Amino acid sequence: MTTPMPHDLPKAYDPTAIEDHWAENWVRENLFAQPTPAETLNQDSRGPFTILLPPPNVTGNLHMGHMFEHTESDILIRWRRMCGNPVLWVPGTDHAGIATQMLVERQIVSEGTTRQEMGREAFVERVWEWRRHYGGAILGQMKRLGASVDWQREYFTMDGRLSVAVREAFVRLYEQGLIYRGAYIVNWCPRCQTAISDLEVVYDEHKGHLWEIRYPVIDDAGKETGEFLTIATTRPETMLGDVAVAIHPEDERYLHLHGKKLRLPLVGRVIPIILDEWVSRDFGTGAVKVTPAHDPNDFALGQRHDFPSINVMDDTAHINGEGGVYSGLDRFVARKKIVADLEEMSLLAGIKDHVNNVGHCDRCKTVVEPRLSLQWFVQIQPLADKAIAAVKDGHIRFTPEMYGKTYLNWMENIHDWCISRQLWWGHRIPAWHCPVCHKITVTREDPKACAHCGSDQITQSTDVLDTWFSSGLLPVSVFGWPNITAENRGDFDAFYPTSLLVTGFDILFFWVARMIMLGCWFAEDVKMPDGSERTLKDSVPFREVYIHALVRDANREKMSKTKGNVVDPIEIVKQYGTDAVRFTLASMASPGTDIAFNIARTEGYRAFANKIWNAARFLFMNVDRAAEIGITFDPVSLGAMPSVGADAPLEARWIVAELHATAAKVNLALQNYRFDDAANLIYQFFWGSFCDWYLEIVKLRLDFSETADTAKTKAALTTFVSVFEASLRLFSPFMPFLTEEIWHALYDDNPPAKSIALTRYPQALNEPLCASALEQMELLQSLIVEIRALRKEIGVEEKAVVPVEVRVDTVKQPVLRDNNGMIERLARVSDVRLVEGISDGLSKHSTSSFDVAVIYERTIDVVAERERLTKDIAKLEKEIANAESQLNNSGFTTKAPSHVVEGLKKQLDEKRHLLEKFRRDLDALPPA
Ligand SMILES: [Zn+2]
Ligand SMILES: [Zn+2]
Repeated sequence: MTTPMPHDLPKAYDPTAIEDHWAENWVRENLFAQPTPAETLNQDSRGPFTILLPPPNVTGNLHMGHMFEHTESDILIRWRRMCGNPVLWVPGTDHAGIATQMLVERQIVSEGTTRQEMGREAFVERVWEWRRHYGGAILGQMKRLGASVDWQREYFTMDGRLSVAVREAFVRLYEQGLIYRGAYIVNWCPRCQTAISDLEVVYDEHKGHLWEIRYPVIDDAGKETGEFLTIATTRPETMLGDVAVAIHPEDERYLHLHGKKLRLPLVGRVIPIILDEWVSRDFGTGAVKVTPAHDPNDFALGQRHDFPSINVMDDTAHINGEGGVYSGLDRFVARKKIVADLEEMSLLAGIKDHVNNVGHCDRCKTVVEPRLSLQWFVQIQPLADKAIAAVKDGHIRFTPEMYGKTYLNWMENIHDWCISRQLWWGHRIPAWHCPVCHKITVTREDPKACAHCGSDQITQSTDVLDTWFSSGLLPVSVFGWPNITAENRGDFDAFYPTSLLVTGFDILFFWVARMIMLGCWFAEDVKMPDGSERTLKDSVPFREVYIHALVRDANREKMSKTKGNVVDPIEIVKQYGTDAVRFTLASMASPGTDIAFNIARTEGYRAFANKIWNAARFLFMNVDRAAEIGITFDPVSLGAMPSVGADAPLEARWIVAELHATAAKVNLALQNYRFDDAANLIYQFFWGSFCDWYLEIVKLRLDFSETADTAKTKAALTTFVSVFEASLRLFSPFMPFLTEEIWHALYDDNPPAKSIALTRYPQALNEPLCASALEQMELLQSLIVEIRALRKEIGVEEKAVVPVEVRVDTVKQPVLRDNNGMIERLARVSDVRLVEGISDGLSKHSTSSFDVAVIYERTIDVVAERERLTKDIAKLEKEIANAESQLNNSGFTTKAPSHVVEGLKKQLDEKRHLLEKFRRDLDALPPA
């Protein structure tokens, strides 16, 4: 019976088993919880590092964009945690007003009822019930993928404590005169029956028409003069709400109509012709109907000329009572009928094809109706100016930098923010209307009576707040604002401003800009930990914003359900493991460059994970063999940066120097958000230096025989183990599961910490790197590479061990002499002969440092060789003929990209040379 092997790792790397186990373990152990600090922490380089997770919609499922964003955040968070910063990554979900309401509405419709039938209270309770059952799906996926967030701090934007902040923000802005209610043109979705923000309208080019309609001119007595003024419109149904027609004051075609009036067709209303410089003389006929209730420009025009606004549609975009015979008709039905009626009355001057941008509701794709309605607004100044200063003065830094300019450009043109939505799911606006005095009461506690006249007939506004109003407050509200008292201000003091926001460009205006506005505005009132006033520098919600790129498909197409090219991260993870997918994303993530997600690369990184696994197994096998001959090994001494003495073997000094150099570069890359550089450095170090070279050399030193010098074996093994252990720590933020599993096995399940994530990140020591080791190793590597190439060229059999001649400077000769064991093993050399010049007749390879030749007399089977060469020559001749005819075909050479043509020419050249060589070889063969 054999005793179980210590360090037992299963033979095959199976990510699923490892990852499920650790994902569950990390959550259960609360491994990434960051308690409220007992005392104020310095916000220096060792200070807290805080990221707020952009809250996914509670209705959402994890897509590739999330996984990418979470991978980048998690790498940074794990890296900072291992660098010794107190680290906090706060997770949560957004209640997503419109999206969630739509989803639950669809459900109850399928059950044969509607929200209107259900009533508001029952409907909202139903949404809460849905949220309790299904609302955690996306966070559950994050847990499975190992995101190292503090789950104890999970929030939901409708939570009680966050709702308190929403209410306080509204009331405070109202008291400060920065929230007002007014009738303005908003984007109205007739399906969702709510106002939606400019950002929630998607514009599609649409082939429509421009209808030209003749409005009769009338004289002072109201009689038609027989003349017409022709207007052009893309939405004829809105003419029912016309209050005037505007022309440019200098438009020579219409000078004689100044001061005249018109009769509005179909309606009969007498409307004036007005002069306004805003009118474009080139658009349509140069005469523009004015419909203040249905167009933002017309609304502004109506305000300038003091016209009433006549709203002709109801909430569902059906014509209302103002529309006379058309009332009750859907807007598009009304359009058809109005055009038909005008035609019959000979008032339709023409119909022209016209391509216009039609706005659709981002949620339900219904055509948006610009429409006058009574809404709540945030007066954007002085909030916007402060938010502009925060970026201009350098208190918030954007990466890539260009997004700072995009942000400023948008902020400088920002309009007042419509914050009310006609939904049921969301934070209800804390404003009460009084039917007696018609005034509004806005209070922190629900009022029982009108604050102005005392009436108890007051009713609360039915509107809720825009979702972005609550998510815009998150950086202050998750840390306790507005209830920041001497006793509970620890979180705010420690974590505000947060360090970094990692997010996508698509919510730069929706969310990032609003957090900056609201954060700067409200945090400024919170005193600093030392009691001093807070300036703008410390009022910002985050110090840095990193805007990540988009994940596209392998052909650089945007992933979309309609195209059917969506890659589901959970499926890919099942196939290749989270670590391989994370590594793929990281290796392609350079700032500002979209990712073309390619499965082939994930396959490659799955192989990389496997390589790490196998290296671990090889290491453990040797540690165990060492134990058998009494070499004990104290893994607890690990955890620092490996170092070796000057008398250590070259490969030990070299791999340690390589590790230090790699660690320095990886740390720098992460500081600059160069995830791609960091991942590639790690890959090159481990696969290239560690496995391909170091591991092969160290095998020479791991002597467990009876005659072994155990001190030397132990020294070699110590370097091996400590470099490998440090490598695991270096890779851990990128491949958290694999490194966790191997690290625990390395310590025989008795590790010095609960998790590798709680150990220290490798930092290069300040002492000078062992430059001579790097140089010497480089010489040996290039010598070995050249010998391998020569062997192939002159056809040395794979297993044959052969002598070599090397000419090298006398200064470098000791390097070869001292390491001839390495050359012999790695290049299958029997004897390294140092010479002053390579012997005549040997074919040599030369570099700037050495000449080398392999001594080999091949015994050949002349018949077989003749056959082989004849075959190869025939094959080459055919290939050359093909290439020549392709290159002589001008149809091909003019169309193909120049680099393709150049490549073909080069290949052809090489083939011609090879052909010559084969012919010479054939001639040189002795007769059979
Ligand atoms: Zn809609
Ligand atoms: Zn009142």
